[in-house]
Amino acid sequence: MTDPCIFCDIANGQIEADIVYQDDDVIAFRDNNPQAPTHVLVITREHYMDVEDLAQFRPALAGALLDGARAVADVEGLIEPGWRLVFNTGAGAGQTVFHVHAHVLGGRPFGWPPG
Ligand code: 5GP
Ligand code: ZN
Repeated sequence: MTDPCIFCDIANGQIEADIVYQDDDVIAFRDNNPQAPTHVLVITREHYMDVEDLAQFRPALAGALLDGARAVADVEGLIEPGWRLVFNTGAGAGQTVFHVHAHVLGGRPFGWPPG
């Protein structure tokens, strides 16, 4: 669980990112391939491979990640009309970076089901 990865390098400042929010537990930065006018990734400073591992081993930190996502929605002005939170979990679900991250998406309408 301590293998280095690209999001660990963002968390420790070795790779630059456009940071929009951070606290003791999480750091949030703009996705470099945005899928909506607001597309921010919220990660834990500590490395867990996905939300399944995080929820199983550190449920309190999973709560901190959700609180960070809410803070991002707030500072990005998304509380109204609403925002979408996505955790791709596993390669079959489209996860490409195996350091837990929540996608905070907003600024355009979203359909359901997501496709
Ligand atoms: P996943 O598909 O794993 O749920 O999402 C990974 C996300 O990370 C993708 O939306 C991708 O655009 C984003 N991403 C990958 N590498 C970087 C990077 O180096 N910087 C930033 N800001 N975003 C990245
Ligand atoms: Zn990592």
